[in-house]
Amino acid sequence: MIPVSAVADTAFCERLAYIKHILKMPPRDTRLYYWGTIKHNVIESIKNKTVELDKAVDKTLPLRDIEKYYSKEWMHIVSKYLEEMRESIESNGLDFNFVYDDLKDEIKKRAKAHAGKIVKGIYKPVSVLTEKFISSQTLGMRGRIDSIEIIDGKVIPHEYKSAIDVPKERVWRDTIQLASYGLLIQKEWKRDSPYGILEYAHEEKRIEFTNALFQNALQYKRRFELMERGVHVPSRSNMCDFCLYKDICNKSH
Ligand code: SF4
Repeated sequence: MIPVSAVADTAFCERLAYIKHILKMPPRDTRLYYWGTIKHNVIESIKNKTVELDKAVDKTLPLRDIEKYYSKEWMHIVSKYLEEMRESIESNGLDFNFVYDDLKDEIKKRAKAHAGKIVKGIYKPVSVLTEKFISSQTLGMRGRIDSIEIIDGKVIPHEYKSAIDVPKERVWRDTIQLASYGLLIQKEWKRDSPYGILEYAHEEKRIEFTNALFQNALQYKRRFELMERGVHVPSRSNMCDFCLYKDICNKSH
């Protein structure tokens, strides 16, 4: 069964999908890779707590105070997590203080964006399920969704992304990832899943699940299958500036 991440990486650069998921080569500099994992875990852990905070927050407070409330509560969770991970962070070659400061900045941005939605009344607490594994024999795909929100009976997959200043090609990759989850939810769970959310540090993007988008996801999956069977050998793309595999790309077949 093909991982959804391989389908999404194929949408970004076929050669990247080939190196990562078929040759299974790790990036030359694993620090950035590890750093991405830490960020992802942090965002997930604050999201797990957010429904509770949303219920408790005094929505009549000024925007600045609501922002501070989330910043403080989230940083409390982040600090605890980072302390637990300190040894691992340092043994992976990362500077603990740099990691802490960078995450503090990111939490501030997320708190600002979230407080803005609370004040405008466009956010309501919803039930959230985290890390849902989903697979389908029929589609031949499997994946792990960051979180699922149930809104008015509809199943909304939600992906957290730590990247900032994301190029449109990267958004396209993430869109294909989300659409693959939408397809899996509709086919496998037979639930209504009309759209999904991509959450970056500064903004959220709502992605409507259209048939055309589902067809795109299935097309990338077929391209990946061809690479897996050795029928298609991918060439280089023009996305190399954003790629963690740049150093080893030239050396792979
Ligand atoms: S360096 Fe460029 S061609 Fe190679 S895997 Fe990365 S994005 Fe693709």
